[in-house]
Amino acid sequence: MRFDHQTLPQRVRFGTGEAATAVAAEVEERGARSVMVIAAPSESELARTIASSITVTLWWDDVAPHVPIERAERARAAARDSRIDLIVSVGGGSTTGLAKAIALTERIPIVAVPTTYAGSEATNVWGLTTESRKTTGVDDAVLPAVVVYDSRLTLSLPVALSVASGLNAVAHCVDSMWAPNSDPLNRALAEEGIRAVAEALPRIAQEPGDVAARERMQYGAYVSAVAFASAGSGLHHKICHVLGGAYDLPHAETHSAVLPQVLAYNVGASAEAEERIARALGASSAVEGIEKLYRALPTVRALREVGYQVEAIPESVALILPLVPPSNPRDVDEEALAALLRRAYDGQPVA
Ligand code: NAD
Repeated sequence: MRFDHQTLPQRVRFGTGEAATAVAAEVEERGARSVMVIAAPSESELARTIASSITVTLWWDDVAPHVPIERAERARAAARDSRIDLIVSVGGGSTTGLAKAIALTERIPIVAVPTTYAGSEATNVWGLTTESRKTTGVDDAVLPAVVVYDSRLTLSLPVALSVASGLNAVAHCVDSMWAPNSDPLNRALAEEGIRAVAEALPRIAQEPGDVAARERMQYGAYVSAVAFASAGSGLHHKICHVLGGAYDLPHAETHSAVLPQVLAYNVGASAEAEERIARALGASSAVEGIEKLYRALPTVRALREVGYQVEAIPESVALILPLVPPSNPRDVDEEALAALLRRAYDGQPVA
């Protein structure tokens, strides 16, 4: 065994019903004097509860998906004007993304309080959109110093969003099996992430108020994001990034339509991935396991359901092919990629 693994430094405070106490403790321990709380309008009620026992200098709710650059610039200027020395972000990946955009230039630490399962809080990856083009990059300054998980904050997340964002976590894990920096440590984490999410998600779909399932899901989402942050983007994420950016498709639903097809395409060429994914899903094979999971969930299976056009396949292939990581266990050529996208377009079962 030979590998070169990096673990990102981060404190995780996990406790149902304890977010307000944990955030107050962080503000005090860090000696923060000027705190900015970021939450989208639909997350502001949760944020008010969480910030109930701290002094907030600046409330900010100008949040939009994929962090448009002009909004990032406005938030940065406001943070400078108020001499902000700690950001508390309460919300999904879009809210965490805005906090990261501020940290990128202003070098202000973040306490992230996630309310979805997107997992951005565990990565040092930032994203910004300029004139409909999304740019991403890596900078340790954007990694939240602290993550506060409180499963009660996810109880209001509708089932459809919970499932889409939960399958996004499974995609983090599956892609970790063959991403450029995949190693035995992140593959072990990825296996555990799939196991936790696959147990929790069908329970949430049946009973959205199941606090224990919500806790298990948050644990799974974090483990998945840590694996992904370490392993990097594999074939699945390259495909979804291109489709999302070029055709303005919804992030999580695009992932859920593409995931089974990439898994089915690659898994036969990686005995370890096959073994780990099948074991984590409690099935005799990885494809059987993913089909079993999808059958248990109300989820998007076909790219045509999210507005993707079949005529776009040749152009998509041309955009994706140069990005296929050399670490992919199976060769990918034009014909294979076009066939994969066609199956994802139709939402064909993979078993
Ligand atoms: P999101 O943050 O856009 O949230 C989706 C919707 O759910 C929003 O309207 C939000 O206000 C609402 N919401 C959030 N929490 C809620 C709750 N508890 N109850 C009710 N409504 C709630 O979506 P997302 O899926 O969390 O994040 C997607 C974004 O995150 C994308 O832009 C993606 O690129 C980014 N992302 C980044 C990384 C990274 O490492 N940088 C990783 C994963 C995702």
